[in-house]
Amino acid sequence: MNAEIRYLLEVQALDQEAIELNGQLARYPQIWDEVKQKLAQKKAAIEEAVKNKERHSKERRRVEQKIRLFADDHRKYAAQLSTIKTQREFEAINRQIEQVKAKLSALEEQGVELLRNDEAVDKGADVATEDFKKYEAYAKEEKERIRVQFNTKKQRLAEVEKAKSQIMAKVSPELIEVYERINRRHPGTAVVPVRSAHEDPNVAKKARNAGKDVVRPGACGGCHFGLLPDVLVQVRRESKIVECPNCGRILSEDENYTPTDHTGA
Ligand SMILES: [Zn+2]
Repeated sequence: MNAEIRYLLEVQALDQEAIELNGQLARYPQIWDEVKQKLAQKKAAIEEAVKNKERHSKERRRVEQKIRLFADDHRKYAAQLSTIKTQREFEAINRQIEQVKAKLSALEEQGVELLRNDEAVDKGADVATEDFKKYEAYAKEEKERIRVQFNTKKQRLAEVEKAKSQIMAKVSPELIEVYERINRRHPGTAVVPVRSAHEDPNVAKKARNAGKDVVRPGACGGCHFGLLPDVLVQVRRESKIVECPNCGRILSEDENYTPTDHTGA
């Protein structure tokens, strides 16, 4: 293979890695934002549970207070019973007593219901706090994990850029310019293999059965455009850089071409 094309393929492999790294680096802030958001939600859940507890105790106090007031009324009417003189008065007081009793009974039922929920309401705050603490610990670990991975990938990106410039120093500036121009249009696939026409047809069949994108022999590895024989001869001769007449990618002869996931132009 043409030495310069071999270098370009190395540059391209590094470019592909840089694309992947940049994509991963861009995702980290989003991952961390999601963790922070979830942490805030869990904190809010504690506050809500505490508020719920306050509402609950307030309601309990209100019911207890009412029970005391109606109990006072009940005692007051009961005391009046000993001082009444007529049947009419007796009946009137008795009616009051019955009403107070009914109210007391309803309030006591409410009080019992509130007491029954006491435990669940108390537990609600505890459960939310426990859940928050657990997630807080996870978030701390996640923050460190993201920090380490971010720095590792950033470092690798710097290495990739350095390696790229070292290889590019071996390629003519004109060809670099051509490569960069095509790479802007087809990031990571500026140089594509042309499958050998002599390839074992069973290899292609097997790849096709495995669901891989199989390019016809003599087709551009990027856009799958069928290349004319004279273009194929030029590619094989390797005396100059040949671009695909359809997509403009640089064509490279590759006897060991294995079908890949090139998705075309
Ligand atoms: Zn093409």
